[in-house]
Amino acid sequence: MSINVLFAAPPERWEAYQPHLNRAFSQLGLNVDLALSFPPEDVDYIVYAPNSPLQDFGPYTHAKAVLNLWAGVEGIVNNATLKIPLARMVDPGMTKSMSEWVTGHVLRYHLGMDRHIVNPDQSWVPHTPPLASERSVCILGMGELGQAVAEVLVTLGFKVSGWSRREKPLLNITMHHGGAGLENALSHAEILILLLPDTAATKNTLNAQTASLLPKGAFVINPGRGTLIDDQALLDALDSGQVAQATLDVFRVEPLPQDHPFWTDPRVTVTPHIAAETREATASEVIAANVLRCEIGEPLLHLVDRDSGY
Ligand code: NAP
Repeated sequence: MSINVLFAAPPERWEAYQPHLNRAFSQLGLNVDLALSFPPEDVDYIVYAPNSPLQDFGPYTHAKAVLNLWAGVEGIVNNATLKIPLARMVDPGMTKSMSEWVTGHVLRYHLGMDRHIVNPDQSWVPHTPPLASERSVCILGMGELGQAVAEVLVTLGFKVSGWSRREKPLLNITMHHGGAGLENALSHAEILILLLPDTAATKNTLNAQTASLLPKGAFVINPGRGTLIDDQALLDALDSGQVAQATLDVFRVEPLPQDHPFWTDPRVTVTPHIAAETREATASEVIAANVLRCEIGEPLLHLVDRDSGY
């Protein structure tokens, strides 16, 4: 008997994923029938992207798990028709990509690269940047991605602090947690990186009040989710000089509407949600490993806690 795995993502993703998923299943000795459609009651697992047309899980009466292709689960976690376990994507390729993207933007701000890249006056003003060991970087959200980013920044010598929901001691990183820890975390954030999930508790984490806690002239990098930032508060903080520059990869509405002030603000760099795409080859191995685990009665990896929303 084969295991029926439904691929419920926008159809254009099928060609990219299908060979990798089939290879990953067969490498683990799984006899899988992977398809874009089955009679719902015959489906065993659902490989899922929240922008898929599938929104009603009710008919999938025998499905054992939904395996999300994205790290963020805000588009599915509150779906009342979903009664089976939900695993989110933790993909080594995506993690590497996030570390590289964030490190690039941290180094840009740390070294003051813009000064020389955009220099229409041909001004020759030597400016010696501090060493990484003299620069404090703070990461809000110290999960899979936050920790991977922190590891690279620590290796480069930065003074790294982090903030998580629960207490989490980590080597070489000054950790803060919970509501009370945020103030401390922000007060040392010369470069602030937001890598929190989008949940009820994380909306507007960076707002007028919390932005005022940052060191004057801080840099903000947001590859987490658009809802983490109150857009107007960020624009105000840029105007007051509290925040010097921001790089934003994620937005409340995507694509970012053409008339949004972020597009034209020279202090804001907009990137089109490209910090860390799920990589088909490595993500397929994670999906296959989870199917195997479920088949042999092992707990799923990266299980989402529906109560906390991530
Ligand atoms: P994760 O492993 O679940 O980590 C989330 C972190 O946020 C954890 O450290 C968690 O604390 C912390 N957190 C959650 N709620 C909090 C709260 N209320 N207060 C303080 N800390 C809180 O997630 P991940 O894999 O690192 O991914 C993080 C996010 O990155 C995703 O949800 C997604 O939105 C975003 N993302 C963006 C891209 C992109 O291309 N731009 C790509 C992938 C992911 P605990 O450790 O205490 O649980």
